[in-house]
Amino acid sequence: MLILNGREVAKEVRSSLIPRVENFSRLQGRPPHLSVIIVGDDSASHVYVKNKKIACESVGISSTIHALPAGTSQHELNTKIQSLNNAEDVDGILVQFPLPKHLSADEVLSLVAPAKDADGLTYASLGYFFAGKPFVKPCTPEGVMTILQRYRISVEGLKAVVVGRSNIVGKPMAQLLTEANATVTVCHSKTKNLSDYTRQADLVVVAAGKARLLGKEDFKKDSIVVDVGMHRNGPGGKLCGDVRFEELDGWVKAATPVPGGVGPMTIAILLQNTCILAEKRAGIKS
Ligand code: NAD
Repeated sequence: MLILNGREVAKEVRSSLIPRVENFSRLQGRPPHLSVIIVGDDSASHVYVKNKKIACESVGISSTIHALPAGTSQHELNTKIQSLNNAEDVDGILVQFPLPKHLSADEVLSLVAPAKDADGLTYASLGYFFAGKPFVKPCTPEGVMTILQRYRISVEGLKAVVVGRSNIVGKPMAQLLTEANATVTVCHSKTKNLSDYTRQADLVVVAAGKARLLGKEDFKKDSIVVDVGMHRNGPGGKLCGDVRFEELDGWVKAATPVPGGVGPMTIAILLQNTCILAEKRAGIKS
């Protein structure tokens, strides 16, 4: 079984950004800039945000963390987003979710300008994306496509199944696979007999958010399995995915592990998206 090493591919993506960041800096007199808003004290979210800042620094992108207190009002949050939308020296904006309960994710997703939406997940961004005119593509699904491309796995003509239909992963994943000429079936929590679908598929992307949901018996021999799932409390307290990876060797053709598969790609594509948005705003061809 070929292990699709997302950690390696993410490293390659990050390396490819360094000359682009240098070129941008030379032409604009400053590096691309990502502004991250985080509201409240959720410690896991603060770790994610810190990791994003470190990742930005690793390729020369500058970043600012706007840490707002838990008691921030919707009006204050909206005003902050508007000011970043209008700031000349901000290329990408990211609002870290989840927000404290009194704040509306809907308002945030309606407010961030698509030209600065580094996640590619606001409602306007998704509209452009599904119309085939993306500013940038949603990070995790684009990360999956990048891994497949890197290993020269063409999805054209493949029967693909996507398990999950969230706006963040499942739906945009199905769209990217369709655009790449796969024939796509989307399964979800109300799908009856899930394995009837996954066992037919040449490629299965699993994003159900259910730890160790699928194993060897759910996949066709020589199929390709991409596991987007991420669960902190797997067996032995270890990180695990939606797939029982250890069952797959000798059965499927290729698979992504967890950790070290799709996870590292999401952040690499976030950096790539920031670069793309910065270049677009400055009229620089990449
Ligand atoms: P979500 O909870 O929003 O969506 C899960 C989807 O799976 C839903 O559409 C639901 O219908 C479907 N589903 C749930 N149980 C199912 C079942 N038993 N059979 C078939 N379908 C089922 O989750 P999400 O935000 O799309 O994330 C999915 C998983 O991917 C989570 O584990 C999340 O932590 C992980 N994730 C990882 C990354 C990464 O960078 N690796 C990024 C985003 C999400």
